[in-house]
Amino acid sequence: MRDAMIYLDHAATEPMKECALDALMQASRELYGNASASYGIARAAKSALESARRSLAGYLHADPSGVFFTSGGTESDNQALVAAAEGAGKGHLVVSSIEHEAVLRTAWYLETRGFTVTYLPVDPSGFVSPEDLERDLQEHRDTVLVSVMAANNEVGTIEPVQELSSIAHRHGALFHTDAVQAFGKLDLDVSRDGIDLLSVSAHKIGGPKGTGLLYIRPGISIGALLRGGMQERGRRAGTEAVPAIVSFAAAAKETFREREESNAKMRTLQRHLFEGLKSLHAHVTGPAPGEKRLSNNVSVSFPGIFSDLVLASLDLQGIAASAGSACTTGAVNPSHVILAMTGDEELARGSLRFTLGPENTMEEMDTVLSALKTILCRATCTGKEDTVGQNTHCQETRRFLQ
Ligand code: PLP
Repeated sequence: MRDAMIYLDHAATEPMKECALDALMQASRELYGNASASYGIARAAKSALESARRSLAGYLHADPSGVFFTSGGTESDNQALVAAAEGAGKGHLVVSSIEHEAVLRTAWYLETRGFTVTYLPVDPSGFVSPEDLERDLQEHRDTVLVSVMAANNEVGTIEPVQELSSIAHRHGALFHTDAVQAFGKLDLDVSRDGIDLLSVSAHKIGGPKGTGLLYIRPGISIGALLRGGMQERGRRAGTEAVPAIVSFAAAAKETFREREESNAKMRTLQRHLFEGLKSLHAHVTGPAPGEKRLSNNVSVSFPGIFSDLVLASLDLQGIAASAGSACTTGAVNPSHVILAMTGDEELARGSLRFTLGPENTMEEMDTVLSALKTILCRATCTGKEDTVGQNTHCQETRRFLQ
């Protein structure tokens, strides 16, 4: 299946790495003991669990005692916000307006529980301004938590986390970052970056779906979201998914071993795809490719052309990409990220996201560009014919052919 298609939706999920699949199978066969029990096979599972915790903590430069396994990014984000807020009892939270729904909807929920929330604006490239945060925290004297993602999932903007966390701390607030897209691509250091809480998901780095972690800085009092057994030192009840966690650690090991090489390769593909898209008159959304944009993110918008139409046509040609917008009951909702960045509904409805992986090739980028050219020509054809070279096209489509 994968050989026949061009997969450009790595930010949605990554194909599982072979090493992660092998680790999953082997651990499922051999480490089936319940890690909370005390006999031999359970101790083996516990030991594999702790070894995965140590190696995953290493990639964050964190103490292993700060790593708590969860079911993934959504649960980690929920726990960070809900447990921090409930621990304080009342007060104010700050989140950026371009967070993933796992943070945004949790913030909306907390508003219904009596908390106040500021949704920080972003500039046209998607950056949160440290000055805006400073101003907001001066106005609110009861801020419990600031949550700004390390890198955005739709447009790849890399936020100034270190600067934002130091402002949060100066005002006595905790700092959480959703690092689901950044983990494995950026150098994250919880001490250097002043991070108290951090979310990671395994399936975004070629690990299995349904597992992830929440880093909680040792010494911080953050309660559980799920109540039950005392697994994960009381912070996350439920039998630990040892095979999935072992597989997560295997995926991370390969990801970090190849990180520089993968980033360099994806940057080359990213530049090529952007150049080709610009020649199709795409409107680039997010920052210029470079240090402040994830290496694998290419997001553009074709104003006036709905993204669902383009995506369906790409799909027919075996190309998997996605929109910034979510499709609900047939209606395309404009991307909240593009809306927050630009305020332009047409751009937000036409937004397309191509997220690359290290296995993608230059030939695939060219195939996508040529498929897009045909799709855009068809989508904009007015029927009024005009001649370009030997071929006849309508006037509107000429702009894609120059
Ligand atoms: N946060 C970000 C930035 C994401 O991109 C995603 C997934 O798309 C999530 C959170 C949710 O992660 P999970 O799928 O592991 O629940």
